[in-house]
Amino acid sequence: MEKYKLYINGEWVESSSGEYYDDMNPYTGEVFAQVANATEEDVRKAIDAAQAAFPIWREVPPAEKRRLLIRCAEILERRLDEISGILAAETGAAGPFAKFQAMNTPEFFREAASQVFMVSGEIIPADMPGQTGMVWRQPVGVVGSISPWNAALLLAVRAIVFPIAYGNTCVLKTSEASSVAGGVIIAQIFEEAGFPPGVLNVILTGPGRSTMVGDILTSDKRVRRMTFTGSTAVGRRLAVQCAENLKKICLELGGNDPTLILKDADLDLAVNAACFGRFMHQGQVCMNTKRIIVEKSIADEFIERFTAKVKSLKYGDPSEPDTIVGPLINQSQMDKLVAQVEHAIEQGAELKCGGGHQGLVYEPTVLILKEDMDLAHEETFGPVANILIAESDEDALRIANDSDYGLSSGVITQDIGKAIDFAEALESGCCHINDSSLGDDPHAPLGGMKDSGYGKNGMYAIDEFTEIRWVTMQRKPNHYLF
Ligand code: NAD
Repeated sequence: MEKYKLYINGEWVESSSGEYYDDMNPYTGEVFAQVANATEEDVRKAIDAAQAAFPIWREVPPAEKRRLLIRCAEILERRLDEISGILAAETGAAGPFAKFQAMNTPEFFREAASQVFMVSGEIIPADMPGQTGMVWRQPVGVVGSISPWNAALLLAVRAIVFPIAYGNTCVLKTSEASSVAGGVIIAQIFEEAGFPPGVLNVILTGPGRSTMVGDILTSDKRVRRMTFTGSTAVGRRLAVQCAENLKKICLELGGNDPTLILKDADLDLAVNAACFGRFMHQGQVCMNTKRIIVEKSIADEFIERFTAKVKSLKYGDPSEPDTIVGPLINQSQMDKLVAQVEHAIEQGAELKCGGGHQGLVYEPTVLILKEDMDLAHEETFGPVANILIAESDEDALRIANDSDYGLSSGVITQDIGKAIDFAEALESGCCHINDSSLGDDPHAPLGGMKDSGYGKNGMYAIDEFTEIRWVTMQRKPNHYLF
């Protein structure tokens, strides 16, 4: 049994209490690894290390920062097969999603590497005679990064690479369900690449200790910014705590993302996009299509073809190469999903296929919902396709926007003018025309609106993790009023 430690100040250390927790394999139900369970003292030590490393790291020349980040991408690529295996065993990621993460995550390092020279500034006009006005962009200091288990590797890397590229240092906390893929692996890569100690510190905690970490990171004044990817409930709590300390936080939260299928859609494309958008990683991605909204005149044909495709998806062991739908992450996610589907059926939802489960594997399921059913308004984090039938295209748009969430969306139609109008009207941070809601690019300004949070990543992350300052210089003496 592998045992993993915390990574603080460039060293692998035990928890100050010496405790370990069990990190489970969701498919086999066996212990995957034992992980050091960080205490309050360890979190403070991680902040100490990040704080001490900041003045050193910010002075490292940008080209050297870039070299180190690119080195991380290369190490990750060398370990691609091994890391895909860890993602499958620790987080249940089946082949397509494990590969997607392992192949796409190096690009986040490269994107961040390409931004190191963006920490720049400009000369602005000055009203005062003889004054030079400047805008300086600077790193902020220690950034607290909290990431989820679902896209464990990719989302943990996303939470640290941009802040670090700009000259900040980080304390990363991943989920107890992804301690290795979302924490240990990344620390190993930083260590091998040769980053100075303390630039990245990785805190790992078992069940019941997340709130302690969140409370410290939001309240410790040395942590100057936060970034959180996870549920809306936890994000809201952290936002309130950050507000009390006037600390800015970037929030990437949940979604109930729609993909609209209008009556002139290419149905082959629509079926394939909706199926991929809903079932990738067994529906446990924030941007998965949680609602498929289809116009009435094509609904019967779409539902028949879509259901046939869903029935063909192989589900079960994520380590088998042709498995598409692997296990859910844990029993509590399973209990929640089972209760959501049962409640929808009680409310009159029509079950087209699936609905059963073995262990933590939930069968690919298709439900036809009505707008007034609770499930139409909830995030479903599992392989359940919820279809809603719209009277018209305008009705599809209305249904799509009738949500507290606003992360991503898709609209499938051959009428490009209409697609643009709909993209403009859809209340979501991202919108994909002739594609599903599921899409992520390292440079893209991924982020939501409404209850899906605020703040952006990719090319726009610089606004989250740097400070803009106004600096003036008098070339000749100022004329003071007294
Ligand atoms: P979660 O909110 O339960 O946990 C996310 C992280 O927060 C984990 O590391 C967890 O340990 C930690 N956490 C929990 N309570 C905390 C607290 N009080 N203080 C500090 N940290 C705390 O979410 P999850 O179940 O891990 O992930 C699934 C959710 O994340 C879904 O709602 C999904 O839509 C969302 N998500 C959003 C994005 C995005 O980019 N918008 C990406 C992936 C997942």
